[in-house]
Amino acid sequence: MTENKDNDIKEPEYREYIDRWIDGHREEMIEDLKSLVRIASVKGEAREGMPFGEMPARAVHAMQEMMERYGLRVTNYENYCIAGDLDAEGGKALDILAHLDVVPVSDTWTKTAPFEPLVEGDRIYGRGTSDDKGPAVAALYAMRCIRELGLDLKNGVRLICGSDEESGSADLEYYYAREKEALYTFSPDSHYPLINIEKGRLSRKFCAEGAGAADAPKAGYVRILSINVGDAPNIVPGRGTMVISGASDDMLRKAADETEALTGGSFSWKTEDGKSVVTAAGESAHAASPELGINSVTMLLELIKRLPVTEDYGSALLGRVGQLWPHGDYYGEGLGVGACDEESGKLTMSLDILRYDLSEDSGMFRLEGAFDCRAPLCCDDNNLTAKVRARLKAEGLAMEEGNMTPVHYVSADSEIVRKLLESYELYFGKKGEPFAIGGGTYVHDLERGVAFGCAVPGVDNRMHGDDEFMEIPVLVTSAKIFADAIMRLCS
Ligand SMILES: [Zn+2]
Repeated sequence: MTENKDNDIKEPEYREYIDRWIDGHREEMIEDLKSLVRIASVKGEAREGMPFGEMPARAVHAMQEMMERYGLRVTNYENYCIAGDLDAEGGKALDILAHLDVVPVSDTWTKTAPFEPLVEGDRIYGRGTSDDKGPAVAALYAMRCIRELGLDLKNGVRLICGSDEESGSADLEYYYAREKEALYTFSPDSHYPLINIEKGRLSRKFCAEGAGAADAPKAGYVRILSINVGDAPNIVPGRGTMVISGASDDMLRKAADETEALTGGSFSWKTEDGKSVVTAAGESAHAASPELGINSVTMLLELIKRLPVTEDYGSALLGRVGQLWPHGDYYGEGLGVGACDEESGKLTMSLDILRYDLSEDSGMFRLEGAFDCRAPLCCDDNNLTAKVRARLKAEGLAMEEGNMTPVHYVSADSEIVRKLLESYELYFGKKGEPFAIGGGTYVHDLERGVAFGCAVPGVDNRMHGDDEFMEIPVLVTSAKIFADAIMRLCS
């Protein structure tokens, strides 16, 4: 080992061989990635021997063919997953987990058709280039490189490519029902430097029903007839509607102006026969980072606070929901469950679905909501789930049964984290600190798995969006990093 002057990482003697080999196979690697991108491996209807439809199975076969061509020992898990091994005397130590399925595409791509890969400058565009076919190919080339250079491994490494990551990871469930977790696992399906903590999740529905009021509201008062916001509990809703009666234009204008100033969203409405349909336009976001959105549910609840609402039970309950989830409270303060720790950060809490219906015939109402909470290490079912349930109950709201999904945690001091970060630091020339995220990754259910690469901080690869791309230098560097990481963990 020699000392690298730019940073303090020891530079291994095999580095120049790896670098030269990977650089020399750059074009071939891009061609292999292109051939995978051309397969529109969006989940389809299950068929005999094709658990996620024809196209994901075709992507599995294409990867199988590459693994065989490059001399790996291949095992096909009934087209759920394909695994390629680089064997060594001491048995397998490392699994690398990538996936070959992709999310559906829109018709608004501007650079190229989603399944017709295009190289432009330093980028390759196409669905799956960064999520996750590019990283899968980088890992494949890392293994091919070690094999063709004849570098010595004490322990084996396996590349596992699944085909259902985007739709619930039934591929991994199938795989791990048959195989044990390796000593080390990393998944290049996220961000550099490295994710060692995925917050716990508590996503639950709640509801209430009872007698509201059937008669027309008194003059000067507003009655809430219905609210309809949100589709998925894990998405901050960008748009929502509410129907009210008895509101004058002036009344709505004043309340809307105040609420718009507070929230940054906007309202519009149409009034006919004394009924107004109010639309709230905010900004949608992933529930794991609610502060990036403008929640249209809490916008409507803030609007209600500024209207002269009738004093019936249903309206009162809506008022209480508005106290528990005030607009702009992303951290569960209103519910009294705010929490934070140094390693995993703040608890986030987002009310993402709200439905309310008042029957004008019977005067009965039904209220339903759903929230999504991402919880740091210090939270458990006692100090979170039970507390939220009790708080909702005290306000007359019944919460669905069930426990939180626990936090995924691998110590920052563990060998896998330290060694992967050494590889990162060697190639990126800067200090790598592991970090926590609110969302879940491919390794969430593994005891010792971490997410490592391939997106670099500050670059939006538009994963799941239009014009998804991978930076070719990052692809090439990732292949080198993975080869270096395999050497560190397996030789
Ligand atoms: Zn992915």
